[in-house]
Amino acid sequence: MKKIAVFPGSFDPITRGHESIVLRARNLFDGVIVAVGQNAEKNYFFPLQRRMEWISEVFPDDPAIRVESYQGLTVDFCRQQGALFIVRGLRTSADFEFERSIGQINRQIYPGLETIFLLATPEFSALNSSIVRDIIRNNGDPRPFIPEAIHKDFV
Ligand code: ADP
Repeated sequence: MKKIAVFPGSFDPITRGHESIVLRARNLFDGVIVAVGQNAEKNYFFPLQRRMEWISEVFPDDPAIRVESYQGLTVDFCRQQGALFIVRGLRTSADFEFERSIGQINRQIYPGLETIFLLATPEFSALNSSIVRDIIRNNGDPRPFIPEAIHKDFV
């Protein structure tokens, strides 16, 4: 059976930190689904369509990396997709505390599901989408923090 992993998040927008996690997950699994969450209670900075297009532009040629959107529980999406793994990145101990309960509950809801944590690389440990949004909002240059493939949209 193919090992499929779901990498869920907001990707508002995708950063070099996300890019690095996807590429590393790609080395571990047969397929990686970058799953863009649509949470009705969340206000996103960029529209869903834009966030998904950017991700597709970052990973254009690898059929093993797919972009999908989903609503509802991540575990239900994993079931639908036949994915037995969730990938998450860990930057700080705060990330760990947040992820621990979600990972444990997800496994209770969907026995057999494993959450795999990849440690952020040191150069991206301080990076998150909210900092990138702040830079964009204030007319700074976000390009050092976002994947090269989408620099063209931020000149
Ligand atoms: P959320 O909306 O749940 O915070 P994000 O879209 O910010 O999700 O991130 C999705 C996933 O990417 C999370 O597992 C997060 O830890 C990981 N991630 C975000 N930024 C980085 C980074 N700089 N390095 C490694 N992992 C990261």
